[in-house]
Amino acid sequence: MPYSADSSLETFVRELPKTETHLHMEGACPFELLQKLNPVKYAKPPLFWDDGFRYESFDQFMELYGEYCSVFFTSANRYGEAAGIVLGNCWEQGCRYVETSFHLPVINFMEDDGPTVLEAIRDAAPPELELRIFAGMCHNDYADEGKDLIEECLTWEGLDGIDLHGPEYIPLELWTADVWARARQAGKFTKAHAGEFMGPDFMELVLDELKVTRIEHGVRSVENPETVQRLVNDKVALDICPISNLKLVVQGVASMSAHPIRQLFDAGVTVTINSDDPFFFGNRLSEEYYALHQDLGFTLVELAQIAGNGFDVALLEENKRESFQNELADFCNEEGLTA
Ligand SMILES: [Zn+2]
Repeated sequence: MPYSADSSLETFVRELPKTETHLHMEGACPFELLQKLNPVKYAKPPLFWDDGFRYESFDQFMELYGEYCSVFFTSANRYGEAAGIVLGNCWEQGCRYVETSFHLPVINFMEDDGPTVLEAIRDAAPPELELRIFAGMCHNDYADEGKDLIEECLTWEGLDGIDLHGPEYIPLELWTADVWARARQAGKFTKAHAGEFMGPDFMELVLDELKVTRIEHGVRSVENPETVQRLVNDKVALDICPISNLKLVVQGVASMSAHPIRQLFDAGVTVTINSDDPFFFGNRLSEEYYALHQDLGFTLVELAQIAGNGFDVALLEENKRESFQNELADFCNEEGLTA
C-alpha cells in the first residue's frame, strides 16, 4: 500500500462521512475474485501494486486493463460479485454515497443486457449506501452495434448517468455533444474525463461541447489560470484521483507533494478525492486522504471540506443531502474542528 497513517489519522478518515464519485467497477476488480478464477496465474500480487511502480503510458495501462478485466467481467452475475466486495469496501471506509461506472461496450460481449447488469450491481450494494451508476464510453464508441447500445442506454431506468472515458487523445467526435444533450433531456447526469492526459484546451472543448458540470480528473487545468477561473466561475467540480495521477505519471504530478490539487483547492475550485481504478493503483480511498494530509499539507478541517464537496456535488434529493451534511458537521464538532 502506498500510504499508511497513524491510528488517530486512520480513525479520523474512517469515521469521516464521505463520498466516492470516481470509481470504475472494472478497474476496482477484487483480486480475490481473479485468484478464484485462476489461482496459478494470480498467485502473486500484481507488480503494479508496488509503491514505486509507475505506468510507462496510458496505453500500457489500457493493455493491463484488457488483460486483467476482460477475463472477469463476462456476465451480470460477475458484476454483482465484484460490486458486492467493492461497494462493501467503500461502506467500510465511511462512504455514504458512491458513483460507480461500468464500461458500456462490454454489454455487447455478454449474454445479459444492460438493465440486468445495473440490477446486479445495485442488488449487491450495502442497503444503506446511496449508489448511482454511470455508463462509461470512449470517444470512438459510437459506431456499429456500439451506436445502438449508446442510444439504448439512454432509456434504461436504472442508469443514473453517462461518462466519457478512455484515451483522451482520440479526437472528440460530433456525436458526443448531441448524445450528452439528449442524455440530460432523458434525466441522466452527464460527466466526462478530461485534463488527465490532455491539457486545458481539451477541457475547454469538453466544457463548450458537452456542457458538463463535473469533470473526472481535470488536474491539467492548472496549466491555464483562465481555465481554473472558469471552473470556479461556472461551479464545475473536479473528481480528482491523486494516487492514480501519481502512478500514471500525469503531467505536473512527478511526486505527490507536487500534485496540483493543492493549487486548485486554494484557487476555490470544488474538488473531490476518489480512487479511480483501485485494482490498478493498489490504493484505497482512505489513502487518498492520508496522501493529502501527509504530502500536501491539507489540515483535518480541509479534509472534511473535501468530504463535504462530495455531498455538495452528489445526485441527491435536497433533504438527503442536508442530512449527510448535518452528519458531517456533527462529526466535525465532535472532533473539535472549526473552519
Ligand atoms: Zn477514471
